[in-house]
Amino acid sequence: MRIGYGYDVHRLAPGHDLILGGVLIPHDKGLVGHSDADVLLHAVADALLGAAALGDIGTHFPDTDPAWAGADSLDLLRQVMQLVREDGYRLANVDTTMVLERPKVKPHIAEMRQNIGAALDVDLDRVSVKATTGEGLGPTGEEAGAAARAVCLLRPRS
Ligand code: MG
Repeated sequence: MRIGYGYDVHRLAPGHDLILGGVLIPHDKGLVGHSDADVLLHAVADALLGAAALGDIGTHFPDTDPAWAGADSLDLLRQVMQLVREDGYRLANVDTTMVLERPKVKPHIAEMRQNIGAALDVDLDRVSVKATTGEGLGPTGEEAGAAARAVCLLRPRS
């Protein structure tokens, strides 16, 4: 088995969409980035790549490449899972935690899990999405940004 860990953070600013786990969430601020800045999916992608020792999301989809400007991170995640599969692994499970102060994301978690499960082509019971606030502390607590962490377990494909 192979364990993987992913971490990502993006700035929050007015005039941007807030897209988390492939869900567009109504809010007065959104995440700033070269792609759609879906911090949750980026953490998942990095966990998968890390478990297979295949580098990170920046190696495969550099933010200097205009091809990935505004990219749908669900597409990136699909491509990452394809790389992992081609490397001989299947996903046992992925567990994630988002850290953001506002808005409440709980009502959207079911849809996020469905999006991630579909992109990774696994059953929902292999995908966990959780959320917590920064308790007002630090950049996430002060709503300057949102962060996400993910761990995953890969098994050799039989
Ligand atoms: Mg990112």
